[in-house]
Order: sequence, then C-alpha cells, then structure tokens
Amino acid sequence: MSIKNITTSAVQAGINTDEHHGAVVPPIHLSSTYSLKGFNEKREFDYSRTGNPTRATFAQAIAELEQGSVGIVTSTGMSAVHLICQLLSTEDTIVIPHDCYGGSFRLFTHLARRGQFKLVVVDQNDEAAFAQALAQKPKLVLLESPSNPLLRLVDIEKLTKACHQVGALVAVDNTFLSPALQQPLALGADIVFHSTTKYINGHSDVVGGVLVTKEQALGEELAWWANCIGITGSAFDSFLALRGLKTLPVRMKQHQENANEVAKFLKQHSAIDAVYFPGFADHPGHDIAKKQQQGFGAMMSFEVKGGVEAVKKLFANVKLFTLAQSLGGVESLISHPSTMTHAGMEIEAQLEAGITQSLVRISVGIEDVNDIIADLNHGLSQSQL
Ligand SMILES: *Cc1c(COP(=O)(O)O)cnc(C)c1O
Repeated sequence: MSIKNITTSAVQAGINTDEHHGAVVPPIHLSSTYSLKGFNEKREFDYSRTGNPTRATFAQAIAELEQGSVGIVTSTGMSAVHLICQLLSTEDTIVIPHDCYGGSFRLFTHLARRGQFKLVVVDQNDEAAFAQALAQKPKLVLLESPSNPLLRLVDIEKLTKACHQVGALVAVDNTFLSPALQQPLALGADIVFHSTTKYINGHSDVVGGVLVTKEQALGEELAWWANCIGITGSAFDSFLALRGLKTLPVRMKQHQENANEVAKFLKQHSAIDAVYFPGFADHPGHDIAKKQQQGFGAMMSFEVKGGVEAVKKLFANVKLFTLAQSLGGVESLISHPSTMTHAGMEIEAQLEAGITQSLVRISVGIEDVNDIIADLNHGLSQSQL
C-alpha cells in the first residue's frame, strides 16, 4: 500500500513476494486444496473457492489501484454484478441507469420480476427523475460512467453525495475506464467493480470480474457471499489478469492517444452523422470527464449515414477492425450494439436509451493509428456506395 503512483503500483504488483523460492513473478497456484499444519491448525489458505494465493495477489493489486480495502475476484464481470445483488432483500430497492450495460440490465430486470428486490430504472442525468428515485429510499444505487454504448457521463461525486444523504450505498461499474483513468472510491463511492475481461486483462483471453469496497466490513460481507455462492475467479484467470494489469497504465496511454486521433477523423467524415466521444468539448459530459477522469478513454460510438444497410457495408469492408463484441483488448474491435451487446434489451428500452440501428461502437486498439484510420476510411467510403 506504500506505492501511490498507479503505473508503478501496477508493474510492481506481486513482484518478489515469493518467500519460498524467490520467484520474481508470483507463481500460479493451481492446487484446489491446502493442507492443515495439524489438527485444527489452519494456514492462510484451505480451499481454493474460499481463498487462493494467486487470486489474492490479483485482488490486492486491484484494491490498491482503486484505493479500496477489500478486493474480490469473480469468475466473470456479471458474477461481480450478481454478487452486489446479495446485498438486497425482497423489500429493498435498487436504482439502476436506463443505459447501463445490457447484461446488467437483463440481470436486474429479470431478478426484479421474480421478486428478489424492487427495481427503479432511471435516466441519471435527469435530475428530477433521479431525485424521485432517491425518494424511494433505495438500499443501493448503481452508476456506470461512461455508459455503454453512448458514452454518457454522470457526476459520480455529486450523485454519490445525494445517495448517501438518503442512506443508499453506491456501486460504480468502472469497466470502460479502468482504475488507470478513474477511481470511483476516491470520488466517494462504496463499491467499484469491473469486467476484467476488458481493459484490465486487456488481451481478450480471459473472462473475469473484480469488485473492490471502500470499507473493510462491506468487503468481508461480500467476500463471504462470493465464497458461499461459489463465484470466485480461477487461479489461472487471476494469473493472466495480473499479468495484463502490469501494462494497464501504459496500454491506456496508447489507447487514448489513438482514440483522440480516430475521434477527430470520424467527426469530419462525410459518412457520419454524429460521434459520441467525451473528449470533444461539445460532448455533454466533457466537463465532468475533465473533472473526474484522468483521460477520455478509448471507446466511442457513431451514427453512420444510410442506416443499417450502410452499417453492414462498413462491417464487410473493414479488415483491421474485427466485428466482435467486447472491448478493451489491444486489438481494435467494431460492433453493432442493437444486435450484439444490447440484444438482451427489448427494442423499446434500446430506443429509450438512444440505441439506433445506425449506431456503431468501436474499441480503439493500440495498433498504429494511421492503419486504424485508413481502415475506417476505406470501410466508411464503401458504406456509402
Ligand atoms: C462486459 C461488461 C460487463 C460484464 O462482464 P463479463 O466479463 O462479460 O461478464 C459489465 N459491465 C460492462 C460495462 C461491461 O462492458
């Protein structure tokens, strides 16, 4: 906990902590079980669902980057979201943003339909609607900033203060920025979580999640549940994600440098109606981004002229960009939110969240930016033929 610089913390995570052999990089512990020293004499670890040295190293590294006290590594990002639901009883209310991650939206709406908790879905930028939601005295409020796929922002510090005034806990999905660019706990939130599948692992070869709490007691409660319901992450995935984490701050620098150039290119392109990128001064969340983020990230979306037919032609003509969901890997990806990431959302809910048929989302990778732009340029010109 002594190293505060985020780049140094990430690189140094777990380095030279192996007392047994002096391994510089923390070894991977695949053993499912651990011996007792003797009758009723437990060691630190006893069974890998409950605790595992490799997972613990990764959890501690993330907790440090997010400036929290307890880190919990989960099997997927969705299991981190599901873990949060364990805080809610049938009479409790949770407030979620209307444009949250499609999988989160599906989980919350379906569990609420089965009576597991009460759900309020709200546009969190609508001050009156948000105040009305808080008047219902929720136990928990979920924030996601920037949101997917339209990169809408909310003022985390301001909303968290309002939530705390009514006694609600605040959990923030920080997947789109990673702790390298935003630390919600430092802005007042109680819980921050990630799909580590995205920027934290960063190489599109792990599906995983992590959750960090500000307070020790809340962290212990959630760690108890994570073991109880059996959603803790595997040792192998933790090893890979820790390896990815080491280059997170360096990767984010290149992602952002490329994203700024790509956004500028898209904005002036005649095949495009609108670009949603918080780095633009005219983006409605630009000032909030400057205040609460250490950069604008590398996700953006745009409307292609000519509707879904033009989108299909764009996808058929890009080569460097891969048509795939997910984001945050070193490689550039392109997707159609309506039929892909947000397909779990009913069409009315999609439209309410601003997801049209001509909307395209890209995750800008760390390839040479001139190659990225040339590929998009070719695809976009073909899209208009
Ligand atoms: C991907 C994602 C999730 C879900 O994570 P999985 O690892 O796919 O289970 C949650 N929130 C956001 C913002 C995501 O992008």
